[in-house]
Amino acid sequence: MPVLVIGTGYGGCVAALRLAQAGVDVHMVEMGMAWDTPGSDGKIFAGTRTPDYRSYWLRTRTKQPLSNFLGFPIDKDVPRYTGILDAEDFSGITVYQGRGVGGGSLVNGGMAVTPKRENFGAVLPSVNPDEMYGVYYPRANAELGVSSIDPAWFDTTACYQYARVGRKHAQRSGFPFLYVPTVYDWDYMKREADGTVPKSALIGEILYGNNHGKKSLQQTYLPKIRATGRVTISSLHKVTTVRPASGGGYTVEIDQLSTTGETTATKSVTADRVFFAAGSVGTSKLLVKLKATGALPNLNGEVGKGWGDNGNVMCGRANHMWDPTGTVQSAIPTAGIDNWAAGGAFAEVAPLPTGIETYASFYLSITRNPNRAQFSWNASAGRVDLNWQASWKQPSITMAKTIFDKINSTEGTIYRTDLFGTYKIWGDHLTYHPLGGAVLNKATDNHGRLHGHPGLYVIDGALIPGNTSVNPFVSITALAERNIEKIIATDL
Ligand SMILES: Cc1cc2nc3c(=O)[nH]c(=O)nc-3n(C[C@H](O)[C@H](O)[C@H](O)COP(=O)(O)OP(=O)(O)OC[C@H]3O[C@@H](n4cnc5c(N)ncnc54)[C@H](O)[C@@H]3O)c2cc1C
Repeated sequence: MPVLVIGTGYGGCVAALRLAQAGVDVHMVEMGMAWDTPGSDGKIFAGTRTPDYRSYWLRTRTKQPLSNFLGFPIDKDVPRYTGILDAEDFSGITVYQGRGVGGGSLVNGGMAVTPKRENFGAVLPSVNPDEMYGVYYPRANAELGVSSIDPAWFDTTACYQYARVGRKHAQRSGFPFLYVPTVYDWDYMKREADGTVPKSALIGEILYGNNHGKKSLQQTYLPKIRATGRVTISSLHKVTTVRPASGGGYTVEIDQLSTTGETTATKSVTADRVFFAAGSVGTSKLLVKLKATGALPNLNGEVGKGWGDNGNVMCGRANHMWDPTGTVQSAIPTAGIDNWAAGGAFAEVAPLPTGIETYASFYLSITRNPNRAQFSWNASAGRVDLNWQASWKQPSITMAKTIFDKINSTEGTIYRTDLFGTYKIWGDHLTYHPLGGAVLNKATDNHGRLHGHPGLYVIDGALIPGNTSVNPFVSITALAERNIEKIIATDL
């Protein structure tokens, strides 16, 4: 086979589509499920407020990012199943990732943000910004179906009351407030609000999949991939090993999984070229293991390094009774507070879609956290570890406080302490935005070709050195579009 792609997220879909359009046959291998068949409730995806067997990757208890409400733990037991959201625990951090055909696009918030050009040099220092802002960011935005909310609707709809409160508080403290583009279908959301279509964002769907409205990769790249007729996709198949084949190319070993996570078959295929698109964590874990165990001995010493959490940190604020945030909150955030230049933080005004009035404002901040961790092979345990430390979130908290301490003092309000535990202000134990581990121009050349093994490529978030200054998937897609164009032109 000419090309095997490991993973079906943003990087994998860009690679598969462009290769197939260039006439190359591609096999995509995805450890998660296809997510194309409704469950007994008639829905493909479980609701955010009602997690079930579909919600978590091989866990017997939910691990909700907001673990508590009014101080009470809200996690519950669920059957072990190859569900959609993986809460992967490392020693100092839980890394949330999407599992299934479509990768993170299945579970993410849909915020589709291009970094400000003045910040791009820190995001991808070896990449020419002119080509990114002239060609590849526009291409990525067009393919992903990115658009912005109608400001007049934002100003009046009940479902963004929470974001208008966020705007008022940001502006009264002198912070720039921006609309954030998304991949949600705004006309669909308007019809949800009118009550003429089945609801998705307006009943809080997000974390475990959107049954309507959101343009995930299932609605964008994947139909185009299928239309080429050149791509096969194997779901519930997990790549375990890649090593040079005797006759050239690479032998790839793959475990077929049951929906309870057992290996039901082991397969071996040979491909001329292999693209690692298993996500920052998935790609890094594979490469670190394959280098350490001797399967890919020539990978360089940069493999596994440069991993960051995009500076993610969450917090909530308790508002006064005259500032209700609304009982109906769109699950798709579409506004942010920009204090990047002055304070190193960009805070999304996020929903708390509980269905009841909480008088709370909730935020996910992306901060300029400088800490970078490394993946390493733990031979005795037979697994890859990450050396992130819980205390490394402190710079993120300090940066987020440049926004929220000021807002609290202007408004005379306080932080919520009941969302992440009992008397815990900061959600500093997790990230939604893993980045790095096979950094561009370090572990690979400047277009993602892995050093030491010709025909192996990285084409996902592992290439980006730990921070994008905004939500990452538009940058991952744009970089993949840039790299695959070069690879097709010169390597194939
Ligand atoms: C809850 C949540 C909310 C988010 N919100 C946003 C947002 O609003 N905006 C934004 O820009 N970003 C958001 N993100 C982040 C965004 O989804 C990721 O940055 C993006 O999906 C990463 O793309 P990728 O191509 O690197 O990998 P992924 O999209 O992670 O795709 C990798 C795929 O590879 C598969 N895989 C892994 N290992 C193997 C293996 N060994 N064999 C076979 N398959 C494998 C995985 O199952 C997965 O499907 C969010 C993420 C989460 C979890």
